[in-house]
Amino acid sequence: MIRTILVFALIVVIAVAAVWLSDYPGDVRLTWGGYVVETSVVVVGALALIFAVLVALIYRFWIWVKHGPGRIGEIFSARRRDKGLEAISSGMVAIAAGDADEARRQAIAAEKHLSGEPMTLLLAAQAAELNEDNRAASIYYDRMMSRQDTEFLGLRGLINRAIKEGDLEKARDLAKRADELRPGTAWVLKELYELALKLRDWEGAESALTRLARGKSAKGDMVRRAKAVITYEQALIAIKEKREADALSLAQQAHELDSSFVPAAVLDVKLTAEQGSSRKLHKLIGEAWKHAPHRDLAEAIRNTVSGEQPSDWFRRAKETVAPHNPDHVETHLMLAKAALASRDWGPAREHLMKAGGETPSAGILRMLAELEEKANADAFAAREWIVKSSVAPQDPLWICDSCGRQEEKWQAHCPACDSFDSFTWRTADRGPHNPDVIEAEIVQEISAGS
Ligand SMILES: [Zn+2]
Repeated sequence: MIRTILVFALIVVIAVAAVWLSDYPGDVRLTWGGYVVETSVVVVGALALIFAVLVALIYRFWIWVKHGPGRIGEIFSARRRDKGLEAISSGMVAIAAGDADEARRQAIAAEKHLSGEPMTLLLAAQAAELNEDNRAASIYYDRMMSRQDTEFLGLRGLINRAIKEGDLEKARDLAKRADELRPGTAWVLKELYELALKLRDWEGAESALTRLARGKSAKGDMVRRAKAVITYEQALIAIKEKREADALSLAQQAHELDSSFVPAAVLDVKLTAEQGSSRKLHKLIGEAWKHAPHRDLAEAIRNTVSGEQPSDWFRRAKETVAPHNPDHVETHLMLAKAALASRDWGPAREHLMKAGGETPSAGILRMLAELEEKANADAFAAREWIVKSSVAPQDPLWICDSCGRQEEKWQAHCPACDSFDSFTWRTADRGPHNPDVIEAEIVQEISAGS
């Protein structure tokens, strides 16, 4: 409003001045060098007005330019940020899709527009990983480590790097640092646990597992089972170091943690026979056979009495062990073997038939062949069983669930793939039916038996 009045007033003044000037016309004469310029006062006034307007405009422009760079800078930096963010998101998509070239291109673009930002560093490191440029990846992780806001993320990258490079000690040190930085972080504890297992650091594994279980990051049964295995391994170390009492106590703990864990039951029985009372041993054998019937346990129970005659063992097995789990396949197998050894043919046949059921395994059929030969000297019947055994299901073994490796003896780590606690007692799946191979096996069995 005021502005309008002012403009109006200005127009009035100019109009009055123009009228006044036309009433009092005059001449203006300018002499400069060899030139003479003559004009009216009105023209000079108009020129002066145009000059004043021009000066005002130039002044306004100068003010705009003076404050301009900030404003222009803002516009440019916002655009740069947008471009940087776009590059980061495209780069992350490329990483998820496994497109190494695109990831690297976007990482370079992000670095150009958003240099030094945490996400830019992460993208650059991931792109370097994808391109298998280990040196570059390590450099980016190191840069992340030097900044407080990305140190934890950088540590994670370096831990994975060290694991990939097989430097487990270094990975464990880095994981410990990450644990100090943010204590109790689930992935750090998990990493500490797995690294300790790989390094056979049982104490470290146990402590990480206990903390994981506290944070409810691991399920109850899995924790008890893993603790049983870890404690069992600690018992084995105690045996090696001749700490007998520790060994027994650890074996008992492992057995208590998981009563179905056969190796712990076996070790508990063996060490209790050596160090414990006979009353305790008697009770233990019954409990162990109830929860972990197995041929290794049968062997351990048999060995608790040294120099025992086969017939005495057969009687002891029948009277003190079998009643704790009378219908189990392993019970019949134990009794069949004991009866065969003590030449009690009738019970041997009976228990072999019960152990074999509808589809007896190759091992049971071979024992039946042995029985025919020893009991009846019937080579023809023995041969029949051998022929059948070659196409029968295989006997169970400790088989690695990760890689399929078969072992006679249970082990905490698979010797082939280094998986922890991956062996289960089961039968391997037979390969595709191949009559030629089976025929060759029959020939081998018969020639070996004759
Ligand atoms: Zn394996």
